[in-house]
Amino acid sequence: MPDFLPIAYFKDRFIPFSEANVSIATHGLHYGTGAFGGLRAIPNPQNPRQILTFRLDRHSKRLSQSARFLHFDLPAAKIQQVLVDFVQKNAPTEPVYLRPFICTSEMGLVPRLHNIEKSLFVFGLPMGDYLSNDGVKCRISSWCRQEDRSFPLRGKITGAYITSSLAKTEAIESGFDEAILLNAQGKVCEATGMNIFLVRDGKLITPDVDQDVLEGITRDSIIVLAQEMGIPVVQRTVDKSELYACEEVFLCGTAAKITPIRQIENYTLPTERPVTTQLKQKLADITENRDQSHPDWIFAIDLP
Ligand code: PMP
Repeated sequence: MPDFLPIAYFKDRFIPFSEANVSIATHGLHYGTGAFGGLRAIPNPQNPRQILTFRLDRHSKRLSQSARFLHFDLPAAKIQQVLVDFVQKNAPTEPVYLRPFICTSEMGLVPRLHNIEKSLFVFGLPMGDYLSNDGVKCRISSWCRQEDRSFPLRGKITGAYITSSLAKTEAIESGFDEAILLNAQGKVCEATGMNIFLVRDGKLITPDVDQDVLEGITRDSIIVLAQEMGIPVVQRTVDKSELYACEEVFLCGTAAKITPIRQIENYTLPTERPVTTQLKQKLADITENRDQSHPDWIFAIDLP
């Protein structure tokens, strides 16, 4: 079991993580009626009494949006304040991952979103590399990403992660590291918890937001950085065969950061990855405070 941070946020209170438990009859456990966020917080290398978060406002806003899908009025400002208090109470001394989580928290049956209590919870744990930095082997999943007409895919809704779980296990059990899911139209969508980018003829290509992808915050940041670096960015539908015809492919997300793909099915990709390497370095420099070109993306939390 990971070493969870000692303090949790549990229904409007900060309590020891070991006491932050719910009943087996909790509604949200049964029906997937929850949503979550995920963000990294790292001690400032220049000042260990300060913890740096990346795009805290965007993460708070996305969770607030997810809450709306669950009929839970949870302002982004409230989420942000809880996360700041959470970090101050835990005072992490190493890089951690924060997991704010909401669900229908009452005990009982009947799938619904009305007339039922919802709550916000937060816990955290240390997190290093989520996927190998040297590049991962991906398979094309036999499972396809849900459609927006069945799931509000712009939220990180817990129930939707059954598909990610099926795809990840299928990939691992068949000798790969990660899965690339196509959408219901058969177009390239994303991985189990990461968005995807291709490089073809020097252009950066990623499935558009109408392709059933999660609107990833890392994805958005990469698009901004690439444009600033003079790399043309195209957001459009992506055919499966393009994965085998391009020069570089990488996955991105809060946990995965930028992770190159070295093999897709039985196709090996080139080991030279100039665009991926450049973007990976730039993103790491910004998140780790060596590059101050996006001060609005870094929210520093002073420890008491
Ligand atoms: N897609 C899915 C399905 C995810 O779970 C995640 C992780 N949050 C992402 C993409 C990447 O999003 P972000 O960059 O905001 O972490």
